Amino acid sequence: MFGWLSGEVIGRELHDLIAPPQDADEAHKGIKHFSETGEGPVVGSIMEFEARHKNGRIFPVERTVSAFNVGGRWYAVGTLRDITERNENKRKLLEMARKDPLTGLFNRRYFNEVGEKEYARTLRYDHDISVLMLDLDHFKNVNDTYGHDVGDLVLRHLSKVMVMTTRETDILGRYGGEEFIVLMPETSEMDALKGAERLRIAIEAHPTHYDDGEVHHTASLGLASLRQGESLEAMIKRADEALYNAKRTGRNKVSVK
Ligand code: GH3
Ligand code: MG
Ligand code: MG
Repeated sequence: MFGWLSGEVIGRELHDLIAPPQDADEAHKGIKHFSETGEGPVVGSIMEFEARHKNGRIFPVERTVSAFNVGGRWYAVGTLRDITERNENKRKLLEMARKDPLTGLFNRRYFNEVGEKEYARTLRYDHDISVLMLDLDHFKNVNDTYGHDVGDLVLRHLSKVMVMTTRETDILGRYGGEEFIVLMPETSEMDALKGAERLRIAIEAHPTHYDDGEVHHTASLGLASLRQGESLEAMIKRADEALYNAKRTGRNKVSVK
């Protein structure tokens, strides 16, 4: 696992071989303390840390150590397990739980989780916050005319336009099939309206290109900004009602509620 042959390592100090350079001092101190007392933070626990391969590569390992005493001297026996793959799987699972696979945006559940935290912070500091609901216009026509695959391409393209057009601090999510949501922290109604209009224009100005041509599209947007005493859920509901108004009164526009 560490790339060493037994002949190269037997009799050598363990931490000279496997501790990353920045951890070496700490590790030596730990060993010294342990040999005097039989105690240490590592003993009797399962811990994750980083280890160094013979070739210098740093990788994550899980370590379990137990101590025993023979003839008044302390010894320890430990197991190290390479957890590179386990960590990678964990990361992938977490990403799958949080992101919509088609667009890479947050899914509805995770958007709500992150959104609630942001909303609580906003209330605590008495700041502005706005939310935007966005729904593509006549998207069924896109699927019916160009096919579902091109429809998917449009959704992916649209999410890129949204990422490019919104702020780094905005929180984006795919809320439904062709319905998206943007939470805009620190943003008053007036600024959010400017942002929404910018987004509407960008969607209209950037058609989706596919093998055989391009698809032009527009979106309708509904905007709501913080009202004292209101929950995030209620604010989103208002944005949804505004979106409905935008649809009802002609589409390709922003409505505020
Ligand atoms: P409106 O302007 O009123 O919003 O009309 P619309 O046709 O966009 O609205 P509607 O809600 O009736 O249709 C939404 C369509 O979006 C229906 C569904 O087939 C399509 N859709 C939802 N999710 C996906 C997806 O992941 N991929 C594709 N290609 N289409 C999807
Ligand atoms: Mg639609
Ligand atoms: Mg819809």
